[in-house]
Amino acid sequence: MKQVVDEKKFKFIIVMIPIMNYEGRKMKKTRRGSKQKNAVLNAAKELASHPTAQEIFFKAKEEVMSISFGTVYRNLGVLVDDGDLITITSPGSEAHYDHNVKNHCHIQCSICGKVRDLDFPAVDFQGILPSDASGFTVDGVCVTFTGMCRYCKETKEKENFNEC
Ligand SMILES: [Zn+2]
Ligand SMILES: [Zn+2]
Repeated sequence: MKQVVDEKKFKFIIVMIPIMNYEGRKMKKTRRGSKQKNAVLNAAKELASHPTAQEIFFKAKEEVMSISFGTVYRNLGVLVDDGDLITITSPGSEAHYDHNVKNHCHIQCSICGKVRDLDFPAVDFQGILPSDASGFTVDGVCVTFTGMCRYCKETKEKENFNEC
């Protein structure tokens, strides 16, 4: 088991996703913000830890008691389209949301799925030509490293200690 975890520790994946929709950003000013949408955005900002939809739902409920999970989920989609939030997705893990829409890198725990910002230079994608990117016009980049968070590492070490 320990072997598998150690291998994962050094694995990193690069996922390219459009981090902002520039057209959507321009349109944002003309859209009327609903009470629910504001509650969802406020919750994502207050949690400030790359929360999941579920975590945002519980936080948004503090502002709008009657809000449903479906409404939260739908508004998360709108906020991502508007460029107010970005999603961090990786295989086998639910989506996490980030109110910091600037180009920056993340690290995700392979055990508990927690996502944090990584103090690592953001990847510069501005110079990538369509000819180098299979004809795609690159408009964003999201690099997600994987590893083991401090909490999971300590838990693992305690487990190994108890096994001895
Ligand atoms: Zn963890
Ligand atoms: Zn982030």
